[in-house]
Amino acid sequence: MPCSRFFYFASIMAADRAAYLQIAHTAVTKQVTLVAVSKTKPLADILDLYAWGQRHFGENYVQELVEKQPQLPADIHWHFIGHLQTNKVKYIAPFVHLIHGVDSWKLLAEIDKQARRNQRTIDVLLQVHIAREETKYGLDAAELQQLLQQLQQKPLEYIRIRGLMGMASFTDDADIVRSEFQLLRQLYDQYRSMYPDWDTLSMGMSGDYKLAIEEGSTLVRIGSLLFGARL
Ligand SMILES: *Cc1c(COP(=O)(O)O)cnc(C)c1O
Repeated sequence: MPCSRFFYFASIMAADRAAYLQIAHTAVTKQVTLVAVSKTKPLADILDLYAWGQRHFGENYVQELVEKQPQLPADIHWHFIGHLQTNKVKYIAPFVHLIHGVDSWKLLAEIDKQARRNQRTIDVLLQVHIAREETKYGLDAAELQQLLQQLQQKPLEYIRIRGLMGMASFTDDADIVRSEFQLLRQLYDQYRSMYPDWDTLSMGMSGDYKLAIEEGSTLVRIGSLLFGARL
């Protein structure tokens, strides 16, 4: 038998090379950074994508990221895309490439403190709440303005804000998703003219990345299309 039950099982669990090549090609063509979201996925799947050329990976649990990072190639750029608790910043501060979901002064101040301890600058994105679903996470437009004002009054030396991150509603209604991405894009453009460091607009996941790119995303975070559904 050329294809035993075991190999069949292994092959459906593996990263999807055709999907990767297609999405990576779109990303290069549109000048968008592709972050492969590897949460819950084994090292072997990450190494597959790495072998095909992928270097940006995203995780959203600190414990999982801290376990995986030392076992994988050192030139991987690790994105933290989940909700980060202040007491866990210290674990990722030595190596994290970009922290996406920052939405409070308290968290910014802690990242600054840990970055200083590690004698490095840590890049962060501020998370804006654009979806209809209720969630504790993400700033509204007024809170974003407030946080940026606070930063102007009391600059944090060891962090660098690079832009904004957001998640659209979980809906099949493309008009809703598009309008949410447009709102985020408008905020991004508004502040980008004031802050020269801003170059990153993190929006778009497996289900909506094409829309996100049409609406000006510069970074998409894609998991299930590359690695298969998370069980
Ligand atoms: C899990 C996750 C993704 C990837 O989701 P997919 O639908 O699997 O592409 C992107 N962004 C965030 C913040 C996530 O938590």
